Amino acid sequence: MLNIDMEGIDLEKVYDLIVLGGGPTAIGCAIYAKRFAMDVLIIGKTYGGLIATTHVVENYPAISSISGQGLMEMFKEHMNSLNIPYISDEIKSIEKLDDYFELHSFFQNFKAYSVCIATGSIRRKLGISGEEEFAGRGVSYCATCDGPFYKDKVVCVIGGSDSAAKEALFLAQNTSKVYMIYRGEEIRAEPINKKRVLENDKIEIIYKTNVVEIIGEGKVKSIVFDNGKKLEIDGVFIEIGSIPNSQIAKRIGVGLNEKDEIKINRKSETNIPGLFAAGDVADAPFKQAITGVAEGVIAAYSAFDYVKEMNIEY
Ligand SMILES: Cc1cc2nc3c(=O)[nH]c(=O)nc-3n(C[C@H](O)[C@H](O)[C@H](O)COP(=O)(O)OP(=O)(O)OC[C@H]3O[C@@H](n4cnc5c(N)ncnc54)[C@H](O)[C@@H]3O)c2cc1C
Repeated sequence: MLNIDMEGIDLEKVYDLIVLGGGPTAIGCAIYAKRFAMDVLIIGKTYGGLIATTHVVENYPAISSISGQGLMEMFKEHMNSLNIPYISDEIKSIEKLDDYFELHSFFQNFKAYSVCIATGSIRRKLGISGEEEFAGRGVSYCATCDGPFYKDKVVCVIGGSDSAAKEALFLAQNTSKVYMIYRGEEIRAEPINKKRVLENDKIEIIYKTNVVEIIGEGKVKSIVFDNGKKLEIDGVFIEIGSIPNSQIAKRIGVGLNEKDEIKINRKSETNIPGLFAAGDVADAPFKQAITGVAEGVIAAYSAFDYVKEMNIEY
């Protein structure tokens, strides 16, 4: 996983801020840190993050339509114009040593007075046949992002949580029919959302049913249930939660919530001084590129304050 251009990277140096992640949150954080004249380094496992996997983004202010990849190319241009160093690597652990942190990858160690964890999350998968094959071609994990492409089409939401209910309500605004497919007997949405779902003529809930296969040809055509029945469908939205990439935070004692998301306050601070977090890995309820960038920017500002208090010369 190592693809390092180590030119200009001094492993002995203690950076003011190291940002972990290669998604919008990390880049947004680093851009602001650099403009605060901080010595900043980004370490990301893969450049682009989750948003680079979506074919079109139409809700990032000032850019009416762009591919996720294209958006992250623009982030890269901005990052490069400020000469912010970016290393492709995966941090495995963080250690607190005196007044700085040491970050360990398989191959080397990095040092920083402050760290922002912007490692995002991975979508929880169903693990059924066709799911991977049709990802981005009828299978989606984000109704807010991909729902508008299904105008007047028939879609389904797999899941019974409050967020699944909200996804179904969002999709019902635009599509002709939304099936909510849930393995339980009663959806687990907040009462208000549950009521809205039950009263919505376009939404039909199929209870006590699991989807076992997604079938298609170039794009999704139908799904198969565990009772053997088949349903013709244009889009499958899987909303069975996500798994935050918070393991390294947990190992150093950062406070997590019940979903394993990093608990942050309005300054993007964690419970460990000097350790900040932002974006999809953190505990904000709404997770989008723009909200991640905002939290990342706040983390940069807080890190700047934190390092300034240490009286380090820039
Ligand atoms: C299908 C889909 C479509 C979407 N469409 C939109 C949209 O249209 N508009 C919108 O605003 N949002 C959209 N989103 C949501 C958006 O992708 C996320 O909210 C956003 O990417 C979060 O950014 P992030 O930087 O916090 O995390 P991520 O984008 O997940 O980035 C995390 C980064 O951390 C890296 N990383 C992980 N672990 C480590 C480690 N140990 N060391 C170093 N690096 C590590 C990863 O490689 C990755 O680069 C969509 C999501 C999906 C799934």
